[in-house]
Amino acid sequence: MNCSRCRGLMVGTVLLDTGSSTDSFSGWQCLQCGEVIDPGITANRKHHLEPRRNGARPPGSLPAKAGGAKRKNMNI
Ligand SMILES: [Zn+2]
Repeated sequence: MNCSRCRGLMVGTVLLDTGSSTDSFSGWQCLQCGEVIDPGITANRKHHLEPRRNGARPPGSLPAKAGGAKRKNMNI
């Protein structure tokens, strides 16, 4: 199996669930870049939508107005 990022060699590995000290599952890890693939990542990527090529956002997805995060002048 080759890495989807760098085409490096991927080897089987055992991954630990960070939320539980007892759960573990098998996955793949790239020897070159460290990319990790597990069944959850694979399932999520199948459902990932391709970005629109013209850069347009879908209707109703505009971000809320940015406010309240103004940079303070810290000159003394
Ligand atoms: Zn890689």
